[in-house]
Amino acid sequence: IFVSIALVFAVVGVALSRWMSKRALEPAKEAYNLQKEFVSNASHELRTPLSVILSAVEALGMEVDKSNPFKEKMLGTLKHEVKRMSGLITELLALARSDSEQAATQLKKERFDIRPAAEQMIESFSEYVSQKEICLKLVAPEQLEVAGDRDKLIQLMYILTDNAIKYTPAGGRVEIALEQHNNKKQCEFVLSVSDSGIGISPEDQKRIFDRFFRADKMRSRKEGGYGLGLSIAKSITTAHNGEITVESNTGEGSVFRARIPYLAEASKTMHPSGKAL
Ligand code: ADP
Repeated sequence: IFVSIALVFAVVGVALSRWMSKRALEPAKEAYNLQKEFVSNASHELRTPLSVILSAVEALGMEVDKSNPFKEKMLGTLKHEVKRMSGLITELLALARSDSEQAATQLKKERFDIRPAAEQMIESFSEYVSQKEICLKLVAPEQLEVAGDRDKLIQLMYILTDNAIKYTPAGGRVEIALEQHNNKKQCEFVLSVSDSGIGISPEDQKRIFDRFFRADKMRSRKEGGYGLGLSIAKSITTAHNGEITVESNTGEGSVFRARIPYLAEASKTMHPSGKAL
């Protein structure tokens, strides 16, 4: 009889602890679902004004005075960034809807020279960095052929650069380095974005790649982030079988490094030097 009583207690105990832990998780789950719903709704709502802006920019492009190179350049940047933003919104929508981060990342496999894309990005950020008095530098070989999903790898570069600028006070510097590392086993593309900004504490470094995480809430809010950029950066890197790491000291700056091995199928005809055969 003692054995039966003990057994009943054990069963009731296990059931009770399961029920309690489920109850304890409910508020967090609810908040997470609310956040997901918010991102989904916000991205949806943002699409309409963006298409209006894009058509207005295109209409302006037809009217613009070709003898004014500044206006033409600014309009070009506007058009490029609005198009990119609508791509980002589509991605955000997919990310918010999906339960698994991988589901949002269906990879295209291509080989392309990433340097022109990096130069275009520097151009797009030029007004922003000059307003913030930040020195933005690109260190890359004349040509750097990489293999992977073009749009996603460019998006990865934008996310890390945007953060580096955002979290670096005036007078600081941001450097983007594009390299190719070869070793006996494999060939990889390495993107490093370093800044002389505010840095990230060791505790926060463990969580910054989590969706919706923002280090110092007040500070990040001032910068207008939602804590999604780095989780997208991580899902892009992971989808390429790569890894993303951070090294940082509070008050001194940070270095984000993404290592992307060449995708087997895309790099079949690729020489380890990165040049297509
Ligand atoms: P957010 O939109 O808030 O920037 P992210 O996912 O891109 O979202 O980044 C998450 C958090 O990591 C940020 O809120 C910020 O606190 C921190 N962070 C990201 N990049 C940097 C950086 N280069 N320097 C300092 N803090 C950073």
